Order: sequence, then structure tokens, then C-alpha cells
Amino acid sequence: MSARGIATSRAEEVVARCKRLASFSEDPGSTRRTFLSPAMHECQRELTKWLVDAGAEVTVDAAGNLRGFYAAAQSGAPRLLIGSHLDTIPNAGAYDGVLGVVLAVALLEALEGRRLPFGIEVVGFSEEEGVRYGTPFIGSRALVGRLDEELLNRRDANGISVRRAIEGFGLNPAEVPRAVLADDALAFLEFHIEQGPVLESLGLPLGVVEAIAAQTRIEFVFQGRANHAGTTPMHLRHDAIAAAAEWIVAVEQTAHSQPGLVATVGQIEAKPGAANVIAGEARATLDLRHESDDVCARTADTIVRLAEEIAGRRGLKLRRSELLNQKRVAMDTFLVEQIEEALRGIGCTAHRMVSGAGHDAMILAEKVPSAMIFLRSPGGISHDPAESVRVEDVAKALECGLHLLDQLASSSELQKRMCRA
Ligand SMILES: [Zn+2]
Repeated sequence: MSARGIATSRAEEVVARCKRLASFSEDPGSTRRTFLSPAMHECQRELTKWLVDAGAEVTVDAAGNLRGFYAAAQSGAPRLLIGSHLDTIPNAGAYDGVLGVVLAVALLEALEGRRLPFGIEVVGFSEEEGVRYGTPFIGSRALVGRLDEELLNRRDANGISVRRAIEGFGLNPAEVPRAVLADDALAFLEFHIEQGPVLESLGLPLGVVEAIAAQTRIEFVFQGRANHAGTTPMHLRHDAIAAAAEWIVAVEQTAHSQPGLVATVGQIEAKPGAANVIAGEARATLDLRHESDDVCARTADTIVRLAEEIAGRRGLKLRRSELLNQKRVAMDTFLVEQIEEALRGIGCTAHRMVSGAGHDAMILAEKVPSAMIFLRSPGGISHDPAESVRVEDVAKALECGLHLLDQLASSSELQKRMCRA
């Protein structure tokens, strides 16, 4: 079989495996696999078989992360981590997260026993989506030493703490500190579906992520006065919903005026919430993202001022509280350039992009040089059972990954980093 033919058959296998893993679910008939659920056991058991067959040694750390180590040519060499998350949202597709882990396994298989100057550790993070505990990235936080007491004590909807969930999965929470990356960790690489329409609109199979966008989340509460819908004349009203509505339109206009900015009011709740009562209170959330911290902060200020102006003019009070202020996270320049070179090496355009969504690489970047490769999302669809991936794009991702491994194996810059690791 030709090299291309082999890549295609491996890619078909990757897609088939993602679909198989999607069958390990807490819900019958759809995919839902949250942190340390029984379905996660089954998913890990399946991946372990593939990893062992590919020549890796598999363990599960105390945060429930699956870790498969493929040794280097020489013992004591540093390790390159490749992976993504294994948990899913409710009613999920088959590729978000899982694809990055299954692709890493396929890369080991494609090495066919060949050893590199560095080891490869395939990581399947136990939690990224934040579904069970409302806090995302539990798995990757453990690798950077941020699965702390507060997080261990957090409880799910059934009152089960993270600590008890860990015990229930057959693990020991006291060993969480042992999950932290050691000094031999060289870098982290994550393959992930784009979950957006950009690569498809450009007709490209792959993209290299240069940064993860800054993100601000603020809750606004417009406080007006509830009153009778039939007896209160229009000019004597302090309608909280009408104020929020005016502000929401202004948020959308503001976002349009700044290239690359995305602003979303995704949640609104009004009280008392009756058809014949003027709303006394409207609570709305703002989610704001841009590749620049500065633009994100300045726009947040503008939007706050707009809310104050609208509330003031209508005789309402305004309260707000910041829910999230995440700075832009840059991916490692050296790795980004290496990925670009690998993309060109396989005949692809090296398109740089900023990820609007948070990913495990954002957390790992706190401790090791990190980078991401996006695969085109057909229709831009994700977080839905219709989420898909093209076999030929997966083949390209594998080719790119192998090219990258060979480049890194012969890179003098990496040799220097390996000496420092
Ligand atoms: Zn994901």
C-alpha cells in the first residue's frame, strides 16, 4: 500500500475508534461521559488496549487521567506529551476531545516501534468540559498542580465531592500531587476539532493555533420596578426587560465594530416572569472574547458604560459582577513554527488562528511549552451529535503529526531544550 493509502486506512481506523468510544455513555442512545463516571472506565479500558498494543505503558493518575508512556530510544530522555480530553458534554458528538487522544494513539502506531530521542506520553484528560462540577479542566489542572483542596471539596448535584468521586473510581486523592508534570516534560501538543467554521470557509483541512483568546464574563442585573401591565402608563415604567433588550442590541453593535471580537449575551432571566407584570429585574450574562487582552478589557469597559447609560436614562439601578477574566494564552512560538513547517512539508497551507474556545493546552501552557493543531469541523458543527470530521483531514493530521515528530527529533533547538529539561 502507498504511504497515502496507509494514512487513509489509519485515519479510517481513528474515526471508527472515536465512534466506538462515543458508545461508552451514561445515557442510553446518546453520548454523555462526565468526570469519573462508569462510562469513563469503559472508555479508558478500550484506549488502554490500543495503547499497550502500540508499545506504551499505561497508568491512570489520581485525577483519573489516562497516561500512556511510549519510551524514548534511551532511558532518562525527556517526554513530549500529546493528548486531549476524554469527557464529554451531554448529547455530545464523537470527536470533541476524544479525537485528540485517538490521534495520539495512531501516531504511536504509525511509529511501528521506532523510538525517538524523546519519549511520548499520550494523555487522555479525565475532565475538561466542566459538566459535573461546574469547573472545567479538572484533569489538566492536576498536571500543573492546580487540583487543590478547594476543588477536591467541590460537590456535584448529588452532593458527591471531587475527592469522593476519585475514591469511587478506585483512586487515591492523596496521590493527586503525583500527577503533576515532572521536569522531564518537554512540551504538550493537542489535536482538536476547530468547533467553528473558519477552516471550512478557507477550504483548509488543518490550522495551527497561535493563541487562545482572552475571555471576560460579566453578569449584569438591571433593577427596575415590577408593576401592573395594564395600569402603568408607558412613561411611568421602569421596565428591566426593555432596558436589558436595548443593551443587548448595543452589545451586538459594539461587537460588529471591532474585527475579531465576539460578544454574546447567552443567558437572560427576568423576574417576576409573568405575562401581565412589568419586569422588575433582568439578569443577563455577557461573554466577550478577543485575541488581545487590551481589546477585550476596553470593550468590556465600553459595554459596562452602555449598560450604565441605558439604566440611568430609564431610571433603573445596575449591578454587575465579573464571573471570569481569562487573559490571552499564547502558544509556544517555537512549536507553532515547527507545526507550520510540518504543514508546509505535507503540502498544506500553514494557516495561523486564534482559538475562541478554551482548551487543555491553555492550562498546560502554564507549565510547559504548548501548541495546538485544529482539524476542520464540517459545517462548523460541534457540541452536537452531528459533529463530524473528514477522513482525509484526519489523514492529513496524522501526516502532519509524523512530520512534526521527525522534525522535532532532528531539531537542534529541541536538543538544547532537552538538555535543560
Ligand atoms: Zn474539547
